[in-house]
Amino acid sequence: MNENLINKTKLSLLQGDITRQSSDAIVNAANSGLMGGGGVDGAIHRAGGPAILEECKQIVSRQGRLPTGEAVITTGGNLKARHVIHTVGPVWHGGQSGEPELLASAYRQSLRVAVANGLKSVSFPSLSTGAYGYPVRLAAAVALETVIDFLHQQESLEEVVFVLFDDATYQKYGQALAALLPDTV
Ligand code: ADP
Repeated sequence: MNENLINKTKLSLLQGDITRQSSDAIVNAANSGLMGGGGVDGAIHRAGGPAILEECKQIVSRQGRLPTGEAVITTGGNLKARHVIHTVGPVWHGGQSGEPELLASAYRQSLRVAVANGLKSVSFPSLSTGAYGYPVRLAAAVALETVIDFLHQQESLEEVVFVLFDDATYQKYGQALAALLPDTV
């Protein structure tokens, strides 16, 4: 567990399964259709039950597919987290197709949705670095920089946690955070 205070908010990295987190919301690495899928998306729908998919369907029928870089909120169903924030990170196409901006937007919009709903704690997985192929070292830098930037401007969140599934991803996020916050050990 790696903990830092960014302005008013605790920022932590931990290795584990995001479906077990008890923050106000966990973020889902969804796809635009919001119909569930593999990876963390499948795990969240399995653990949270059908109420989440039901709300996702209503959202898509109301506003269409969710564009890359945007975020929406649903119930957390049977999860400990009361809400799931669904966002769509970019598919990696080599880095020249706006991937960093879209990834930053996915984190920023998720945090905006959390704040707009009065939430105090949010957990993120490593968006885009599984099936979507974004190199972890590059994604970690964008993710952490974007969240830190946001927390300097917005003080209402108490805690943001990155829940990294595997050790290699956890280590790379730790290195990226150390590079961004050189004062911490
Ligand atoms: P994407 O399609 O955005 O790449 P994936 O779900 O394929 O999303 O992968 C994103 C990250 O989520 C990967 O690092 C993967 O190992 C991780 N992951 C998979 N299951 C879980 C889980 N239960 N909790 C946290 N992270 C998870």
